[in-house]
Amino acid sequence: MTTRIRRWVETDTGHRVPNHNSKCRNFHGHRYRWEAEIEGDLVSLKGISEEGMVMDFSEVSRILNEQIHDVVDHSFIVFEGDDEAIRALSEIGDEHRTVIVPFVPTAENLAKWAFDRVDPHIKSSYGNSITLHAFHVRETPKSWASWRP
Ligand SMILES: [Zn+2]
Repeated sequence: MTTRIRRWVETDTGHRVPNHNSKCRNFHGHRYRWEAEIEGDLVSLKGISEEGMVMDFSEVSRILNEQIHDVVDHSFIVFEGDDEAIRALSEIGDEHRTVIVPFVPTAENLAKWAFDRVDPHIKSSYGNSITLHAFHVRETPKSWASWRP
């Protein structure tokens, strides 16, 4: 038996899908929701703050803030092969928050990217077994992508 918990953080982030056949090739942004889904056993140590939890939600939040929010909030994510966009963004100067990634920044690819960033930080100090089960990215209220190994 296992339990799963979810916690999300939101960011305002720009991107474009350079080879999209419609409007997604334009520079635009989303209110992204980045949701970690963690699976595991409950902490059974008596009397500690985390007793009965898979992982303290505030600890998940801290990790999501450091690994996702503080990296991509109010930034523009651009594919390393998108020469036009990289050239345009470089005109703005070094202060602009540009995050260059080795993939086209679709919600699907961003879900795997986020999983890989967060996964090494999901571990317990209290003897219960936990893993990052999946990562979910909401691009719009009607559009989600999930990735899990
Ligand atoms: Zn988009």
